[in-house]
Amino acid sequence: MRTELTYDAPLMELNTFGIQAKARMLLTYDSEASLREALSDIRHHHSNLPMLHIGCGSNLLFLGDYPGIVLRSANRGIRLLGETTDEVLVEVGAGEVCDDFIAHAIRNGWYGMENLSLIPGQVGAAAVQNIGAYGVEVCDVIHEVKGISLSDGSERLWKRDDCGYGYRQSIFKSELWGKYAITYVTFRLSKHFNPNLQYGGLRKALEQFTSDSPQGECPKTLGALQLREAIIGIRRAKLPDPKKQGNAGSFFKNPVVGKEVAEQLLVDYPEMPHYPAGEGKVKLAAGWLIEQAGWKGRSLGPAAVHDRQALVLVNKGGATGSDIQRLCEAVRKDVGTRFGIDLEPEVNFII
Ligand SMILES: Cc1cc2nc3c(=O)[nH]c(=O)nc-3n(C[C@H](O)[C@H](O)[C@H](O)COP(=O)(O)OP(=O)(O)OC[C@H]3O[C@@H](n4cnc5c(N)ncnc54)[C@H](O)[C@@H]3O)c2cc1C
Repeated sequence: MRTELTYDAPLMELNTFGIQAKARMLLTYDSEASLREALSDIRHHHSNLPMLHIGCGSNLLFLGDYPGIVLRSANRGIRLLGETTDEVLVEVGAGEVCDDFIAHAIRNGWYGMENLSLIPGQVGAAAVQNIGAYGVEVCDVIHEVKGISLSDGSERLWKRDDCGYGYRQSIFKSELWGKYAITYVTFRLSKHFNPNLQYGGLRKALEQFTSDSPQGECPKTLGALQLREAIIGIRRAKLPDPKKQGNAGSFFKNPVVGKEVAEQLLVDYPEMPHYPAGEGKVKLAAGWLIEQAGWKGRSLGPAAVHDRQALVLVNKGGATGSDIQRLCEAVRKDVGTRFGIDLEPEVNFII
């Protein structure tokens, strides 16, 4: 059981935007017991300080130094809780790197998360963010989430249906924001490989396997590892590597609008990408809207819209959180003026 406390801690290595900020205190813990003990100490000595739980910092934008205590989980471990002939229940420490767990799951013949390969971040954050890619959201395979209250150290379990999951949304991001440290996530994974290939780009990348299988059917020769590798390949080609250029992946959510709004826009922009998003709703591509508004590849000081993927804002070097925020607002304003759509940031702004 171990905690590590650093005062005046640099956060630059702890956020993928590479923003130079500091935390008054940084506390890393490796178990629920060490977290509880640290929280009790905080209640006695620092009860006036705000707390922020982070993972790998791949969806955060620090707008300045953090005036309170930043918590980080090093609570690892993967435990098989039970299995049937069809499924496994696996409990994973929130501090595990999500992609490492996906690789582990595939090695063990546990399926359902292949499409989420290479998304940066920890398992705990994945459950907070409801990460998603290529037609799969992590809530599809979450069974249960466990957390510890930051105010009194008590523990709580949420079944998947109580987590308020939606598109990049959960109760941990809304009404419970800042109230709990997620400590474990239990996944329900399948023992049968049943790939989700609904995303067109993915089917194309896997053409050698999919060419002789009808749409929607599992190609017989395709394995989970090949699917994972194809996804990693697509992601590497499309997205800037945060180690080379600071970014937080998609900066904005794809807007979901009413069918009538989409139909109206399609009169003026018949080529606009749009996808069904439930009854009477249509999802638009934020990247396309940004590109049409003339922002792809454009800079505002040291912050820029990526030149290959307009949904990604990047730190060209030395940008502050405010530089990125200024660019975000300029992009929102122009998209709003041109299309009447208010883009909502996916990234968490930290004040
Ligand atoms: C290059 C790149 C590509 C990306 N691609 C995708 C993608 O395809 N799909 C997608 O959905 N996202 C994507 N993202 C965003 C990001 O990877 C996810 O949001 C991820 O879940 C963030 O994990 P993290 O550990 O870095 O969390 P952080 O960014 O550190 O935190 C995210 C949120 O979770 C909270 N949090 C973190 N850990 C805990 C915990 N243990 N308890 C309580 N709260 C916690 C934080 O307070 C914050 O609100 C991408 C990011 C990058 C940089």
